[in-house]
Amino acid sequence: MKIKIGIIGGGFSGSMLARHLLKSNQNLEIYIFNNDAKFVRGIAYQAQIDSLLLNVPAGKMSAYSKQPDHFVDWLNKKNKETSGEVDQKFFTRNEYGCYLSEIWEETKKLAAVSNHIITPIISKVLQILPKDGALELQTHELKLSLDFCVLACGNSLPTHPKTISEKDFNSKLYSCNPWRIKVEEIQSDKEVLILGAGLTMVDAIQVIRANGFKGKINCVSPHGFNILPHEKTSEELQSELKYIKTPIRLSEILKIFHQEMRLHPTKSADLVALLRAKSGAIWSNFTQEERNFFIRHLRHKWGVARHRIPPESYAILQDEINNKSLQISAGKIIAMEFQESTIIVEYEERHSKEKRHLSVQHIINCTGPASDITAPNDGLLSSLCQNGLIHADPLFLGVKTNVNNYQVYSKENYPIYALGNLLKGELWETTAINELRIQCEELAQVLINTFNKQ
Ligand SMILES: Cc1cc2nc3c(=O)[nH]c(=O)nc-3n(C[C@H](O)[C@H](O)[C@H](O)COP(=O)(O)OP(=O)(O)OC[C@H]3O[C@@H](n4cnc5c(N)ncnc54)[C@H](O)[C@@H]3O)c2cc1C
Repeated sequence: MKIKIGIIGGGFSGSMLARHLLKSNQNLEIYIFNNDAKFVRGIAYQAQIDSLLLNVPAGKMSAYSKQPDHFVDWLNKKNKETSGEVDQKFFTRNEYGCYLSEIWEETKKLAAVSNHIITPIISKVLQILPKDGALELQTHELKLSLDFCVLACGNSLPTHPKTISEKDFNSKLYSCNPWRIKVEEIQSDKEVLILGAGLTMVDAIQVIRANGFKGKINCVSPHGFNILPHEKTSEELQSELKYIKTPIRLSEILKIFHQEMRLHPTKSADLVALLRAKSGAIWSNFTQEERNFFIRHLRHKWGVARHRIPPESYAILQDEINNKSLQISAGKIIAMEFQESTIIVEYEERHSKEKRHLSVQHIINCTGPASDITAPNDGLLSSLCQNGLIHADPLFLGVKTNVNNYQVYSKENYPIYALGNLLKGELWETTAINELRIQCEELAQVLINTFNKQ
């Protein structure tokens, strides 16, 4: 009898999990669901313009943790790059999408000559319900009985700001999906407003400029602009941080951090980058109080040090700022009034507390993926939550999950597992390829061991 597994999400996580499951010596029927036809690429690697670069150098982008040069070798083989330090360079997201698509094609071929079946299904999964001792997965078109389900749903759209009323959510003046900006609705000589000043803002600027936007770009975010370019990590720090052993208390980390900062005052970002490699082990041993403290007081500082962009993207932003075609303000939006072809925006400047006004023709929401699965909406996670099949973690950053075996928490111990962004509350850093690839490998092994026990 075949074991039936449903993977919800056909991005990197879902497709690489399917790849590793092929190692099972049981007969598997793997159903992998994705909202759209672009399996593997997800929103990250089907960029709106070709020139958008990865935020991570090639040397850290292999799809396999045990073959760290896999992507670099692929690039060399494709003659994309044959000189210089390829592993230090930033290639385009769409090139990376081609790399992943090749792996996906290989995966399907491997499945075809194995005792497993992989069935990709382009459809949105609406519901999963317990039924007759199994899990019944529902889409608009089908109902399927499964033995195991894996949630690999990735990045959700940002939440609408409270200052935008529901009637304006679909306005042509508003792009709520920052990865598919309504460029055709943006008038080239007017002003736009970008909400949020993180990595997504950097992409949005490049996308609208590449589409001919010539006007002024305003950006408002609670803390203003703090993104730094990538730099080589200091070797001195690397050797010192090797001595950090987990579990470790937050207070001890802060002590080490302050000591290191006295010795290397300009290296806070390096320190965070090095700590990040151990962040899963550190975070999962934190108490709830330590996690709360981190979120309240350190989250922003961590984010500033951790979110790095390629030097090329940094130079584009600096040019915009120097030319005054981009103005980034720290502040809080107070009100927005959508008129026929203009939006009047009022915000409070963070430091002066002064009220400022903008008149813009388009707003792009770059406030980051939504994470609260308890928020009522028509999505799968929300309904799973309402039906008690999954629960939010205490910080409402994702799904409450046992990170030792990736099974989501439920009283009935349903065979539902989670990967990627959904584990933010449990692991904190769980977004980048070098984190996800390990999760895919580990979860596949957990599932293979479970199949063998059945
Ligand atoms: C713009 C951007 C750039 C990034 N750049 C980098 C980078 O340079 N380096 C790096 O290491 N990381 C980067 N990341 C991090 C990125 O999140 C991961 O690298 C990776 O792409 C995430 O893969 P995933 O499969 O977990 O999620 P996703 O790629 O988001 O895939 C999830 C898929 O699930 C589908 N889905 C969700 N719900 C359902 C449902 N109910 N039914 C059916 N399908 C569903 C979605 O449509 C989507 O296709 C970037 C992220 C973004 C957003």
